Amino acid sequence: MIIVLKPNVKKEEIDHIMEKITALGLKPYLSAGEQASIIGVIGDETILREQPLEAISGVERVMPVLKPYKMASREFKAKKTEITVRGNTIGGTNVVVIAGPCTVENEEDTIRIARGVKERGATFLRGGAFKPRTSPYSFQGLGKKGLEILAAAREETGLGICTEVMDVRNVALVDEYTDIIQVGARNIQNFDLLKELGKASKPILLKRGFSTTIEEYLMSVEYILSHGNENVMLCLRGIRTFEQATRNTFDVGSIPVLNGLTHLPVLVDPSHAMGKRELVAPMSLASVAAGADGLIIEAHYDPEIAKVDGGQTISLEAFADLMTQMRRIAECVGRTL
Ligand code: PEP
Ligand code: MN
Repeated sequence: MIIVLKPNVKKEEIDHIMEKITALGLKPYLSAGEQASIIGVIGDETILREQPLEAISGVERVMPVLKPYKMASREFKAKKTEITVRGNTIGGTNVVVIAGPCTVENEEDTIRIARGVKERGATFLRGGAFKPRTSPYSFQGLGKKGLEILAAAREETGLGICTEVMDVRNVALVDEYTDIIQVGARNIQNFDLLKELGKASKPILLKRGFSTTIEEYLMSVEYILSHGNENVMLCLRGIRTFEQATRNTFDVGSIPVLNGLTHLPVLVDPSHAMGKRELVAPMSLASVAAGADGLIIEAHYDPEIAKVDGGQTISLEAFADLMTQMRRIAECVGRTL
């Protein structure tokens, strides 16, 4: 339910409405907009329906949220959500770039790559410590040791880190080490994991699943928001279609769609979407043009030696060129990078 407030509403009136809703056992979320301020209400709507809310001073009107996802919707909160991590704002004018290896393999390489991407303008370092591999015989990542290496790379470069959690049992551990908790495509509907992430202290980067619809995707987002963590960013990484020429089909069109439906930051992962190094740059540029708030890109000082996803990993030189080109596109669409 949404309570639209009168344009000239007083602070005391807002406080009174908020108290009243809380006393009914419901959760109010105030969002002050330039045109009008609204209070989004989460909880049993039947309780609200029985209340003569429109009679309270300061209330303009009361209406239902039509979308099945509530807290994630633009109706609930019109203003774009900005998430600040280690001094970098995601969802603002600046487009952020998370770059690094697919997987953390050892400390020396990780720090070398971290330095390389930092010098070329990356905002955050990526790298998997817990890896979701299709084959159980493939390298599964270093686990806790990988998190320690990422922390050492942060210490060395000052870059915030973004790494994946796969298992509900490791949420607290990953939360302790990382700055952004990544949830991979394969876990998009692992609802127990999503609920647990609602209790995490760090922002979540939630990737779209191979075959989740936009509505299902936003319902997964809603799990995290409604369980207490309001700092969620979305990440498009391609979906599965009949097409075999690329690793996935990059749903670049979902960027403006999501920007219309949700107030949360929308990022993209052109590396996993395309699966081929030479296709990463054109789709990164397209994403900035289409309104992405950030990108996560696999980069390595020598992609050929990467144990995982080397074929879609770009070199540091290519990363530098891409940053220059993306800055030009960002400027065209009124943003910085
Ligand atoms: C990754 O970013 O390392 C990854 C495994 O991506 P996805 O979940 O999108 O496949
Ligand atoms: Mn990868």
